[in-house]
Amino acid sequence: MSDLNTNTEKLSGYLKQFGGQGVLNFINGESVAAQSGDTFENHSPVDESAICRVAKSSDADIDAAAKAAADAFPAWRDMPAKERKSILIRIAEGIEARAEEIAFCECWDTGQALRFMSKAAIRGAENFRYFADQVSSARDGKNLPSPTLMNVTTRVPIGPVGVITPWNTPFMLSTWKIAPALAAGCTVVHKPAELSPLTARLLMEIAHEAGMPPGVWNLVNGMGEDAGRALTEHPAIKAIAFVGESRTGSLITRQGADTLKRMHFELGGKNPVIVFDDADVDRALDAVIFMIYSINGERCTSSSRLLIQESIREEFEAKLIERVNNIKVGHPLEPTTEIGPLIGQEHFSKVTDYFDVAKDDGATIAAGGVRVGDKGYFVRPTLFTMANNQMRIAQEEIFGPVLTSIPFSTEEQAIQIANDIPYGLTGYVWTNDLTRALRVSNELEAGMIWVNSENVRHLPTPFGGVKASGIGRDGGDWSFEFYMEQKHIGFALGNHKIPKLGA
Ligand code: NAD
Repeated sequence: MSDLNTNTEKLSGYLKQFGGQGVLNFINGESVAAQSGDTFENHSPVDESAICRVAKSSDADIDAAAKAAADAFPAWRDMPAKERKSILIRIAEGIEARAEEIAFCECWDTGQALRFMSKAAIRGAENFRYFADQVSSARDGKNLPSPTLMNVTTRVPIGPVGVITPWNTPFMLSTWKIAPALAAGCTVVHKPAELSPLTARLLMEIAHEAGMPPGVWNLVNGMGEDAGRALTEHPAIKAIAFVGESRTGSLITRQGADTLKRMHFELGGKNPVIVFDDADVDRALDAVIFMIYSINGERCTSSSRLLIQESIREEFEAKLIERVNNIKVGHPLEPTTEIGPLIGQEHFSKVTDYFDVAKDDGATIAAGGVRVGDKGYFVRPTLFTMANNQMRIAQEEIFGPVLTSIPFSTEEQAIQIANDIPYGLTGYVWTNDLTRALRVSNELEAGMIWVNSENVRHLPTPFGGVKASGIGRDGGDWSFEFYMEQKHIGFALGNHKIPKLGA
């Protein structure tokens, strides 16, 4: 990787395209401003400077995009699988060809460190390749014969769908949602987060250059309460795939009620990592640190609650403090940087407020708990110790590089603490006792559990949460279950008896 100077020079080249008209919408194959002409300013969290203007859309823009998606739907649905697949593969190739540009823009827009974002673009391409491979089998069904009928099932795409994404790793998450929707035969209206619009625009351009027919994939920028709301309420949109906060999920449920929207929610988390005293402590330490401090801690699957067995607590926390104090906070495009700035002013205030909440609750700030510099939204990675599970720092999603350490004595107590939370996205268990690993993973209330491992995503596996962490699953065939409808067709095998009324 080149140094910071070379990277910032390259970045300014990549950002030139967003000058002039800024980030426009893309509706029915055309770049367009919001119909009202309104825009908003997008800033970099690195130095708070303005990056560009962005279209600030409202109901009229969503209406145009939803109509375009509805008009384009029949032809996209009926396009031979081979052709649809080849468009998706060309998108993957386009992402790979522009991977550096995507990574640099993502770093500047979101504050994420290049060491992680350089892989995010490649993972986005993998999402398109994976779902491209599923196109030809997406409609497959079953044969369920009965004595009088040959019953067959098939799946059909649900129709135009809305995809609403957050600002944390926005590029990767957009591909993860949009690729299976397109593979299923749905058309898409995408509303990216207002705080990170750059790479959604790059992705849209790549798709257009890959031969995506007009109207199949539309991009509408703007605020959640305007453009986002209008998308969830639009009658032509048959389903909403949403990634974001739990309370926004509740709002969207209400907004979509009148049009009976199908919803898929990937929401917040406050995930436990349980470390038992028989674990491989060095590997557990690496995983604990990685799962809360990578991606700036702005990660739904982060292990933000460390449940540490009392017998090894002191030793484990001492090692943890040393490592946390050693984490390198800096410019996202500096190749050695491990943590960049938080996404923006509001989120920075939210995260830093928890430093006071921790003190008020009686916890100890064992590492970090301070801002870094006076420009940009940088904080030192933070560790709270002497905490209990009732404290706000244990119950609320902070969504920053902030870990709360909670001691436990017995396995039963660990399970009780782990589950005593409104969320249920992931759980991590560290133990070398196989039967304990089985017992604990059986008891944990979470959609995904890793034993003796950090979160390692494998695309065919189901991704999603329980409780306030979500509804529905992504990945493998689970994505198609959301974007498609099951259809049953029964063919009579002969002249079975039909009940006669009025005969
Ligand atoms: P957010 O809920 O504030 O915003 C997400 C998106 O929803 C944005 O595009 C926003 O404009 C839009 N939105 C806001 N209000 C809306 C409304 N009324 N109607 C329609 N759309 C609306 O979330 P955020 O702060 O951008 O993202 C962080 C959150 O996302 C965290 O809680 C995190 O845990 C969660 N997340 C979950 C997963 C997962 O897989 N479970 C993955 C990534 C992020």
